[in-house]
Amino acid sequence: MTRRRLTGAAADERNALIVEAVRRGRTCRSIAAELGLDAAHVQRIVRVATGVSVYDWRRGNYKRAARDPVARFWAKVDTSAGMDGCWLWTGALTEAGGYGRFDAVKGQSGRAHRFAYELLVGPIPDGLLVCHHCDNPPCVNPSHLFIGTAKDNVADMVRKDRVWRGGVPADRQPRGERHYMARLTEAQVRELRARAGAGEVQAALAREYGVADETVSAIMHRRTWAHVA
Ligand SMILES: [Zn+2]
Repeated sequence: MTRRRLTGAAADERNALIVEAVRRGRTCRSIAAELGLDAAHVQRIVRVATGVSVYDWRRGNYKRAARDPVARFWAKVDTSAGMDGCWLWTGALTEAGGYGRFDAVKGQSGRAHRFAYELLVGPIPDGLLVCHHCDNPPCVNPSHLFIGTAKDNVADMVRKDRVWRGGVPADRQPRGERHYMARLTEAQVRELRARAGAGEVQAALAREYGVADETVSAIMHRRTWAHVA
């Protein structure tokens, strides 16, 4: 197979014809055969012409072009709930809080709901948060989002009776032994309750179990470890 590498205007003209032929349904393979070119070379011509690939002059090879962030964003949004429903982020979620993860710029870890707000509503003032009216962290429907301070956000959550700690909603908080601060096991908590209930001095129990007096008191009054019978 002979290869004819064209340059300049001649190459541009031929490449335009190739792209046009592909748009009309011809395969790269059949065009390559007709022109005496490598099928891979014809594919590269089409990929560059349609913006899928770019030529990396530094490395001397072709690479996948960075896709437009807006197109990447919409590709991950499920709007099937309609205009008023929650638009759910179908991509990765943050571990803390379950917000959509979206990097508008490669390497900058961003949040999908913040990108949605800036794209569809307007800029987010410095230092302010984008909060959810709907309490649904992966939602990116701009009509469910509002700008607030950290204080507003907490007030909103308290009003809705959903206090979040460490970015995790109360009903999804690791409790008891699984909590990273836990010093006691469930068995010890039961033991403590039984012993204090039987009249042992709380301060002495606190020393024995290596916890603060208030910890024992909180356990006894079920302000903590309430889920342990
Ligand atoms: Zn929503």
